[in-house]
Amino acid sequence: MTQKSLHKRHSELANSNRQLEILSNGIFQNGDLPTFKNKIAESNQFPLKAKKLEILQINVGYMCNQVCEHCHVDAGPDRMEIMTRETMQQCLDVIDKTGAHTLDLTGGAPEMNPNFRWFVEEASKVGIKDFIVRSNLTIIRANKKYYDLPEFFKKHNVHVVSSMPHWTRGKTDKQRGNGVFDKSIKALQDLNAIGYGMPDSNLRLDLVYNPSGAFLPGNQAALEKDFKKALLDDFDIQFHNLFAITNLPISRFLDYLIASENYEDYMYALVEAYNPAAVANVMCTNTLSVSWDGYLYDCDFNQMLELPVNSKVKHISEYNEQLLEGRNIVISQHCYGCTAGAGSSCQGSVA
Ligand code: SF4
Ligand code: SF4
Repeated sequence: MTQKSLHKRHSELANSNRQLEILSNGIFQNGDLPTFKNKIAESNQFPLKAKKLEILQINVGYMCNQVCEHCHVDAGPDRMEIMTRETMQQCLDVIDKTGAHTLDLTGGAPEMNPNFRWFVEEASKVGIKDFIVRSNLTIIRANKKYYDLPEFFKKHNVHVVSSMPHWTRGKTDKQRGNGVFDKSIKALQDLNAIGYGMPDSNLRLDLVYNPSGAFLPGNQAALEKDFKKALLDDFDIQFHNLFAITNLPISRFLDYLIASENYEDYMYALVEAYNPAAVANVMCTNTLSVSWDGYLYDCDFNQMLELPVNSKVKHISEYNEQLLEGRNIVISQHCYGCTAGAGSSCQGSVA
């Protein structure tokens, strides 16, 4: 398992321009594979346009207690980019006036931001319909100061969405680090104990699956069935939905693809699985992503590639829903990860 972020290792892939160069050169430059732009143009879907904002996703920092092999954020304990309270306040001002029905807090491990609880308390007062926190589960067991997070989430009616790459220890720990599986199981049991994930409970607990290698996820409904059976039989754990997410070829997953000599095969597989019907519902069409320093992106992946929104409005402090609606989405070859098979977004399959 990778112990340090690409940034800490001074890897050339810590540079987003280098990642974009790799994604634009070689098989895409010489015409072996069509660029994403040309591919979506075949079905008259270029330029891809932003529709009405429904989901505001806020990345409160890249710091994390884990250093997962495939992290698209390149997160880890050595990342110090953290959203300040001032930027959080600017986000709160926007949440108050936006028509978005979903607020989605992500990271890193969002709970590690020192102002996380304050932000959740303030944001929950606004009355947003679906308030998601993407928790990696192990943070709940990482330190005593986090043990009460399940209760805190419950108090603010937070919808918990957590990564769980597999129902077996071996596959989970390989992707996310030694000991992650056992801590995740304990955290899920803690969440179940107060009502999260139970069949008739309003306390939503969903899991996110992403493949542990250079292959595409299987059918989401079949995976959910297998996860539910295994976690219930082995650990008496219940949850609501499983989202199957395709690994996008950026950041540490791109590094893994290149190091394992799977990059070209993986890009061929993504292009081969391209589904034009998935394009209309990719998450950038109804989502706006805010970075730790308040800048706006079409999605969390574009944020990591430092591809800002194509709009006069660049920062949350200048937010203007009318100006942002209808903007052209910034795309590159990584977008094939969102349109393969049944499609993939932070909410799982889209088609
Ligand atoms: S828990 Fe999530 S943010 Fe943290 S390193 Fe793993 S994938 Fe990245
Ligand atoms: S990577 Fe981002 S911009 Fe590209 S299709 Fe997916 S959500 Fe849209």
